Amino acid sequence: MAVDPRSNSVPNGARSVLRGNPDATARLPPPGEPFRLAEAPGEVRRVFRQFRAHGVLDVVENPRDEPKRYRTNPAAFEAAREIRASRDTLPCGHGGLRNRRDEDGYTCGYGGCDARFDRRTVLDCIG
Ligand SMILES: [Zn+2]
Repeated sequence: MAVDPRSNSVPNGARSVLRGNPDATARLPPPGEPFRLAEAPGEVRRVFRQFRAHGVLDVVENPRDEPKRYRTNPAAFEAAREIRASRDTLPCGHGGLRNRRDEDGYTCGYGGCDARFDRRTVLDCIG
């Protein structure tokens, strides 16, 4: 993979944690829109600790009597956008879906990849 100079500042491990959580990656709020944990999309809340641990999310405000506010790390957001845009396919980088109506979602159809997406993510990616 070519080294993109913009990628150099992506926090260690952020890229793989983003790739491993395509639903949350697709939902990351832009860096200019700080949020409280309670306001974050469910997909992001589910992997919040992992995203924090890998520098995908930064603390921007830590008021004494209120919940902290976070924002998406700009370099990580850029990486997330690259991951989403890659080859006009799914966030995991593959094309092809298996419909899983029973779970109201979709599974990547690529052999060996069991990434799952909700309907909105699929529409965001594939249109
Ligand atoms: Zn896949």
